[in-house]
Amino acid sequence: MKLEIRNLTFSYDGKKNVLDGISTSFESGEFTVVLGRNGAGKTTLFKNLLGLLKPQKGEVLCDGLSFSDMSIREKARKIAYIPQESNPAFSYSVLTSVLMGTTSMISSLSSPKEKEIRKAYEALEKFHIADLAGRKTNTLSGGERQLVLCARAVAQEAGILLFDEPTSNLDWANQIKTLGNIRALTRDGYTAIVSTHNLEQALNFASRIILIKDGKLCYDASPAELASSSLLSSFYDIDISVEEYKGHYICIPKESE
Ligand code: ADP
Repeated sequence: MKLEIRNLTFSYDGKKNVLDGISTSFESGEFTVVLGRNGAGKTTLFKNLLGLLKPQKGEVLCDGLSFSDMSIREKARKIAYIPQESNPAFSYSVLTSVLMGTTSMISSLSSPKEKEIRKAYEALEKFHIADLAGRKTNTLSGGERQLVLCARAVAQEAGILLFDEPTSNLDWANQIKTLGNIRALTRDGYTAIVSTHNLEQALNFASRIILIKDGKLCYDASPAELASSSLLSSFYDIDISVEEYKGHYICIPKESE
């Protein structure tokens, strides 16, 4: 599934553009990481991609169809949002959480049919957590909750997955597992767009990295290209040396003399 952004321009107050003429596209099988300093516009970009905010100029298209012409239900069949892992105050069972992702449950209050329940179990099995189906989500570990969020997105049957800092609240092992799961999903043909502040993980897991600064897309390249350029230092305004060790990138902030 292809997601295309054409000249996306958005302002909250009608004066300052928080997104300023962003144009790019995301293809099936790509694992794109979006990097940007705090306040760069990543969340605003995601909200525009999900149709939660309407751009003043430009448009978002999926397989050639404009999002502005689609209903919530149609959009949900195209794009799924995976929020940051967090401990919910109210808790449903794991199965109910995943069922809430199935499209028939979105914008309808009907009870799930056998087909949806099967779909939910298939999604849980994909992440090897079918045995958690009856558990309340607030009794799970952070890593397990992240897997439930991934299963819910898969049950939604959208081809484009938008991950908002998927590793931010996880221990190191679960961060690596989550990124491995995202990579596996892209190998199955999903389009993954992932925001993170972890530069090293971006370089090691993404197939493509885009840098957002002041609402503009200022760089779009493979991790290898980015690692070998001096751009990261100017982007973060700190001297960064990227070294390669056993096929992995390691980012080293240089001490200021
Ligand atoms: P990021 O996710 O990269 O940290 P955001 O998209 O949250 O950046 O914010 C981009 C800019 O838009 C910031 O200057 C922020 O203050 C502003 N902004 C974010 N949300 C709102 C809002 N609801 N109303 C007004 N300004 C906002």
